[in-house]
Amino acid sequence: MVARDQENENETQEGFEPEDIDMIVPTDWSSKIRGCLSCSLVKTVNQFATNGCENCPFLNMQGDKERIMDCTSNSILGIYTTMNPRTSWVAKWQRTVKLRPGCYAIAIDATLPEGIEEELSEQGIRIKRTRATAEATLRK
Ligand SMILES: [Zn+2]
Repeated sequence: MVARDQENENETQEGFEPEDIDMIVPTDWSSKIRGCLSCSLVKTVNQFATNGCENCPFLNMQGDKERIMDCTSNSILGIYTTMNPRTSWVAKWQRTVKLRPGCYAIAIDATLPEGIEEELSEQGIRIKRTRATAEATLRK
């Protein structure tokens, strides 16, 4: 049993096995989908309300619709899906290699409000910038 457990542990370190994939995808492809302004993860408002952002728990969006409106945007310019970010060249290009498998915005035409950026930097929290959110910040 011990050997089997170690084997499983090794599998998760090397990459996701197909049966282990726990992708975060929108449950409803309507106008309600929004992208996280830190990591660019795309989900519905209700999914953000239920679980917050899986990559960015520091944004404290769980159960807070106003916070969700501030920390996400529906100005999504294209979406890609990555099943295994660690081996995906798209994830490498988009800088989402270390993030959860799921749907991400290729680009977002919005940035985190300055007040929230300040609040996070005062707490010593580093925002997870992906290509989508970093480029939006540069355009600001
Ligand atoms: Zn996020």
